Amino acid sequence: MNFDVILVRYGELTTKGKNRNDFTRVLINNIKSKLEGYEAQYKLKKEFDRLFIELLDPTVSQTIINIVKNIFGSSSLSLAKRVDRELETIANCAIALVQYYQPTTFKLEVRRNDKTFSLTSTEIKQQLAPMILQQTNVKVDVHQPKLQIDVEIRREFTYVFINKIKTIGGLPVGISGQGLVMLSGGIDSPVAAFLTMKRGMNVEYLHFATPPHTSEEALEKVKTLVQKLYHYTGQNQQRLHVVNFSMLQHELMHISDASYRITIMRRMFYRIANILAVEWKCQAIITGESLGQVASQTIESINVINSVSSLPVLRPVLCFDKNEIIAIAKEIDTYQTSILPFEDCCSLFVPKNPVTKPRLAQAEFQEQNLMWQEIIDVIIKKNIKTYVIGRDDIHEES
Ligand code: ATP
Ligand code: MG
Repeated sequence: MNFDVILVRYGELTTKGKNRNDFTRVLINNIKSKLEGYEAQYKLKKEFDRLFIELLDPTVSQTIINIVKNIFGSSSLSLAKRVDRELETIANCAIALVQYYQPTTFKLEVRRNDKTFSLTSTEIKQQLAPMILQQTNVKVDVHQPKLQIDVEIRREFTYVFINKIKTIGGLPVGISGQGLVMLSGGIDSPVAAFLTMKRGMNVEYLHFATPPHTSEEALEKVKTLVQKLYHYTGQNQQRLHVVNFSMLQHELMHISDASYRITIMRRMFYRIANILAVEWKCQAIITGESLGQVASQTIESINVINSVSSLPVLRPVLCFDKNEIIAIAKEIDTYQTSILPFEDCCSLFVPKNPVTKPRLAQAEFQEQNLMWQEIIDVIIKKNIKTYVIGRDDIHEES
């Protein structure tokens, strides 16, 4: 069965006026950029409460659905037939659907979007149903129909469709500004990136590497994770910034109280992330921290670490159990990559007994003898590589 159009229902669109326009504008832009290469096969049409993807080539309908389903900002979509507003034409269209799908029972739902249409929804239903029943063997079952046929009468056309495909939800990526995700190679931070994008924030990625202690493979793994997250971005390209942290990591070996090493390392991560986020016009830092998961994620640790950040730090998985995070990681297909066994810089320098309730005064005291400011300056100037990661291609930004 060939359909004419994909009808897209907007997601959490509760605001009005300019916000509504921003919502639809960003959603449309994101859809266009994700459908790059298919321009000749579809046309977009925006209406107040719906977006229509007109299928110029019906053979690509499934491909387009699979892409659009994962773009944040819609709540569901339906493949629809588009006909005029004559009841007889609508009935014929419904009859064709029944004859094609051959259900034993069906249910008809009518929605009159154009309130100036001469009949009410109930009246339309009362006239359409007998026409369908006369021409087919199907019976009505309003409780558990084998097929539901929806008719939506709008100002210009009528849309007839048979099912609603649930989409990913969320807000269009881009309407909630720009953030910088601290991306390790682990399970949690890719999920944090996904959830941030789900609420409409565009993200760039920051990864700290400590070569030669961390390998090329570890870096490849992080690139693969960013590539997996591609489906959910608003844009065609994502940026992954890799900081060579080795110089600072060596300096951190001079910390006399080894139990503070991780606390201080994370304060350094946050300091660097803050400087870079401002430079790249990011309004927030995002991490995969989860309350109580490890020593550096107790509320005492979070306090001491967070105190060096002037930008808000968003922690989308803060209150999720590990199992819940893993379930999302599997759903978004980052899990298998995340569990590949490559060292990241934290695991290499973990002291035997990391402090679980650090004190700010002690952290600051331990930092006093380090040359950290100078080293951060050098790192920012010289030790960052940026990769541009698209759907099929990764290259270093010159
Ligand atoms: P993940 O599964 O995301 O690695 P984790 O439970 O292993 O998280 P930590 O290693 O303590 O936790 O890291 C907490 C957060 O700090 C990570 O989720 C990530 O946001 C950030 N982070 C840790 N290591 C790095 C790194 N090498 N580069 C960038 N960010 C990092
Ligand atoms: Mg980690």
